[in-house]
Amino acid sequence: MADVDDNSFNSLKPGQNRQWNYQPQLPLKLAPFFDTPTKPKAIVAWLQNTWLRASPPVNHLCFSLIAFLFFWPSSMNMKVVSWDWTLHILGINFAAILLLAGLLHLYLYAYSKQDMRLKFDVKPMEIHKKFTFGYQTWDNIFWSLVSGVPIWSAWMILYFYVAANGWLPIVESFSASPIWFIVFFIIIRFWQSFHFYWIHRFIHHTWLFKNVHYLHHRNINVGPWSGISMHPVEHVLYYSSILIHFVLPSHPIHVIFHMFALNLGAVISHAGFDKLIINDKEIWKAGSFFHQLHHRFFQCNFGSEEMPLDRWFGSFHDGTDEATQRIREKMKKSRLSKVKK
Ligand SMILES: [Zn+2]
Ligand SMILES: [Zn+2]
Repeated sequence: MADVDDNSFNSLKPGQNRQWNYQPQLPLKLAPFFDTPTKPKAIVAWLQNTWLRASPPVNHLCFSLIAFLFFWPSSMNMKVVSWDWTLHILGINFAAILLLAGLLHLYLYAYSKQDMRLKFDVKPMEIHKKFTFGYQTWDNIFWSLVSGVPIWSAWMILYFYVAANGWLPIVESFSASPIWFIVFFIIIRFWQSFHFYWIHRFIHHTWLFKNVHYLHHRNINVGPWSGISMHPVEHVLYYSSILIHFVLPSHPIHVIFHMFALNLGAVISHAGFDKLIINDKEIWKAGSFFHQLHHRFFQCNFGSEEMPLDRWFGSFHDGTDEATQRIREKMKKSRLSKVKK
C-alpha cells in the first residue's frame, strides 16, 4: 500500500492539459514478454506486479476460488441440462457483477469517496438522449445485466455441460498436473488479450461498428458499469474467448477465472480512476488509461497491455501528445477516404 501525497494525484492544472483530469506516468508501458532482446528482469517484475500485488488478476482469482469452493454446483449434476444448476451459475455471475460494479460505482461515483483524485476524465456520468433511459449509468447497468450476464452465463453453461459429459480435455486437480495448472493462468491472460484484439478490430469495421459496437462506444467517459455494457452480438463474440477451454485441458477454476477476468476485469478497467484510494492510501490498481484512450480516440489500443499487438500493427497510443497527434491524423485520413468513396 502506498501513502498518497497531494502531488501524486497529479490533477492537471487548468490549461495544462484540458483533455484529462489525471494521467498516469507516460508513455504507457506494455508487458515485456515479447520484447527483443529478451528482458528477464522486466518479465519477472511484470509477473510479480500481476500476481503478487493487489491487482485485478489477483481479484479475479480470489473471486473464482470463492465461487468454486463455496458456491459452485457439482459437476455430477451438470451431465443433464436442468434449471437447478444453470440458474445457480446465472445467480453466481449476477452476484459477482452486482457486488463489484455496484460497490465501485457507489464508492467512486454515487458517493464520490475520492472526489476527482486519480480520475482520468474531467466529466461525470452523462445525461444524454443517446443512452437508453437517457442516463449513462442506467443504460450501462441495463445492458450489463439484461444482455451481458445471461450471455456470459450461457457460454459457461455450455462449457460445463460439455465438460461434465467428458467431451473435452479437463484437468482433474492441481496435483494431477501442477505446472500446467499454474502456467495456464498466464496463457489465459495472453489468449484473452489476443482474442480481444482481433474480435475488437473486427467489430470496428463500418457496418458492425454502426450496428453493434456503437453501443459500447457511446461511453466516452467510462465507469465500472460501462465495462460489459455491450450489444448482445458483441457479448456473444466477446465471451467466445471461452472456446480455448474446449481445446486445452482446463480445471473449472481456470474457466471461472477466465470468465471473471472478462467481466470483473472489464468492470475494473473501465472504472475511470487509476487507483482506488481508501483513507488516503492507494490500495488497488483500478482503471486502465490504455483502454480509456480507446474510448476517447477510437482508432487506437484495440487490445490490452498484456500483448503488444497494437504496437505491432501501428495502433498503439502511449498516452503522449505526439501519439494523440498521430492518431488524429489517422482518423482524419480515414474520414477523408470515406468521403471520397
Ligand atoms: Zn471499453
Ligand atoms: Zn472499440
